[in-house]
Amino acid sequence: MIAANLARVHAQIAEAALRAERRPESVTLVAVSKTKPLEAIKVAYNLGIRDFGENRVQEVLEKQATFSPPDLRWHMIGHVQTNKANKVCGSFAYIHSVDSLHLALSLQRAAEKKSHAEETAVVQPVLLQVNISGEARKEGMTPEETPAIARQLRSLSHLKVQGLMTVAPLVDDQEQVRPVFQALRQLRDKLRQEVPEYSWDQLSMGMTDDYPIAIEEGATIVRVGRAIFGERVK
Ligand SMILES: *Cc1c(COP(=O)(O)O)cnc(C)c1O
Repeated sequence: MIAANLARVHAQIAEAALRAERRPESVTLVAVSKTKPLEAIKVAYNLGIRDFGENRVQEVLEKQATFSPPDLRWHMIGHVQTNKANKVCGSFAYIHSVDSLHLALSLQRAAEKKSHAEETAVVQPVLLQVNISGEARKEGMTPEETPAIARQLRSLSHLKVQGLMTVAPLVDDQEQVRPVFQALRQLRDKLRQEVPEYSWDQLSMGMTDDYPIAIEEGATIVRVGRAIFGERVK
């Protein structure tokens, strides 16, 4: 099942990229394996997937302890509590979910400590999570406050800000999320002007229900779970 699903997702990524006159290789597929057993991760890995997304610190640390081939890249896509900063810093290709200055400062301190302990500079790549749709219960900084926060992050030598992430709202008609993705891209363009110290290369947007639209609007990373691994049973 995973093999057929992956083939379908790869095909959809390629089609969406071509519609937008982009190269399919410009889109990184992160397979979101949260709640799924290690066996499913291994199957996807053996089919060529190298990027895996998880949203719970405890769960991903357990998975990492058991299965971590050197070329596997883990992505933290869920909310990180500041008291868990020590546990996540340095263990992920990207932390997609930096949603406050407070968390960024905790990650900086954690990376600093780790750098001393390991006598090597730990620099954690991160994305800033933005709540574009403004839903009250959703994590993320507001688009308005993002430039000011980004400016404050420039002094944090152990964090490398590489772009933005958003989670689109649940809608009946997928076309309704397109403006959300467009707004994230426009915010990225603005940040390139206003905070040029960072490249702002990565746009992490698009999930099972909307990743083709996200790619049409410029996503460089899509986070796809159910379309690869099937529905999650909670
Ligand atoms: C669960 C999750 C995904 C994947 O969702 P699917 O609908 O299964 O593709 C992507 N991003 C975040 C932040 C998630 O929590």
